[in-house]
Amino acid sequence: MKRRETEEYIVAFRPKPVFEPSIRKRPSPPVQVESPAPAPPRSVVETPKSSPTILQPARPAVFNFRFSATLEFKDKFERLAEVLGVENAQNHMAEILENALDIALEKKDPKQKLDRRRKKQRARTVTSRSNEIVNKDEPAKSRYVAAEVLERVHERDAYQCVYRGSAGRRCAARAGLHIDHSDPFGIFHSNDELIRRLLCPAHNGLEAERVYGSAFIRRKIEARRKARSP
Ligand SMILES: [Zn+2]
Repeated sequence: MKRRETEEYIVAFRPKPVFEPSIRKRPSPPVQVESPAPAPPRSVVETPKSSPTILQPARPAVFNFRFSATLEFKDKFERLAEVLGVENAQNHMAEILENALDIALEKKDPKQKLDRRRKKQRARTVTSRSNEIVNKDEPAKSRYVAAEVLERVHERDAYQCVYRGSAGRRCAARAGLHIDHSDPFGIFHSNDELIRRLLCPAHNGLEAERVYGSAFIRRKIEARRKARSP
């Protein structure tokens, strides 16, 4: 088990205290006062000793979060509470933030977009059996790819980078994935989803260099050969 999995397992037997929701101001650094006047009583806000950020299991299926954020974050949080009509925002932090996450995921997550699209398509085919014309074999004129194709590529590649290292182990990256042409568009002029694949930023860069690098070298060699022949 990974460390995180072990922690989640352990809290089933030894639950940790669940945090009370709160917004607190960070203690400001102590101010040096010249006069020997008695120092004002220090606020009782404790600073986290090790790491300012916490995400830990507290009980089975319950997690403690703790982090510091900017004033802008706080303002946005309180504004969202107003917009959602949640009174006493501080007591409903998790609920309000989850709402924000739902909205963001609905907008950004290729998985959710694909599910939504399929639902819509099913509804459409039920009402009218349209005779759509699809010119699948026609070469693509631009790099524009239908959002649906991108979403399907994400799904096919299981929302994870498909790059395999020399040992054959697949890259585990799931963040910031790019869709790459396994054959560069510049050569094949096709937006077929079969030649598209999901890569993390690092491997996307590596592959672009490999593909375009070698194509560039091929063109150079060709040009040199032509220049030499009379
Ligand atoms: Zn990768």
